[in-house]
Amino acid sequence: MKYALIIGASRGIGLGLVRALSEEEWQVTGTVRQSSGTLLHDLAQKIEAIQVEQVDITRDDEVSALISRLSAQKFDLILVNAGIAIADKPVSEVTADEFSKIMLTNAYAPAKLIELMANLLTNKGTLALTSSRQGSISQNTRGDNAVYRASKSALNQLMKSYSAKNPEQSILLLHPGWVKTDLGNSAGQAPLTVTESTAGLVQVITQHLGEVGIQFLDYQGKTVDW
Ligand code: NDP
Repeated sequence: MKYALIIGASRGIGLGLVRALSEEEWQVTGTVRQSSGTLLHDLAQKIEAIQVEQVDITRDDEVSALISRLSAQKFDLILVNAGIAIADKPVSEVTADEFSKIMLTNAYAPAKLIELMANLLTNKGTLALTSSRQGSISQNTRGDNAVYRASKSALNQLMKSYSAKNPEQSILLLHPGWVKTDLGNSAGQAPLTVTESTAGLVQVITQHLGEVGIQFLDYQGKTVDW
């Protein structure tokens, strides 16, 4: 039996990952921000292998409380999936508050969680994060979503630094594809369903579980250039 912790699992890709891992016989703890009423709460009522925990990753008090509640457990996979986007607009139209919030949620809080939670991992466990191809600097030819891209590039760079200092650690930065979720489908054009994306992600995770070093992979297992 393997144990996973998926942070940011109330809906979208995180919820899909919890469901897909439980179908592959993992025991899965998913986190949400609300105390009740999310789709994850509904799913956990139906599937015994799913547990629900609560945390807002940008709140230090909630992060500390979560870590102490989980301190007796070990996970084979800790995956920080939580993330936000903002409307695509020129940087000059993005307020400092909007910029701070997306950097805080998509880069600082996930990287901090990884550092704080690494000791909840089994010896051959993997730390994973939902990044995005949009965080790739070499593949940025369009320049859209400048601030969202910057937040995922910052996340990637923070994890590169963490990996350089912790070379024995197994780290996966994952690109889920362009997926029909509240975040991904504002223009109604995302080609992938959550089920398609998460089926691929679970295969990629299973295949690379415990591999030492840092890898940036998409939901089909292809390497994404930094
Ligand atoms: P959704 O908007 O559907 O889900 C986002 C999830 O993140 C929700 O569970 C949300 O919880 C949670 N979350 C947001 N902020 C916080 C916070 N401060 N603390 C805890 N949880 C939080 O988006 P997706 O499922 O599409 O996105 C999941 C991840 O995938 C993100 O990191 C996103 O950047 C990335 N991604 C998505 C792509 C896509 O095409 N959809 C493409 C590439 C990357 P709540 O319900 O409480 O808001």
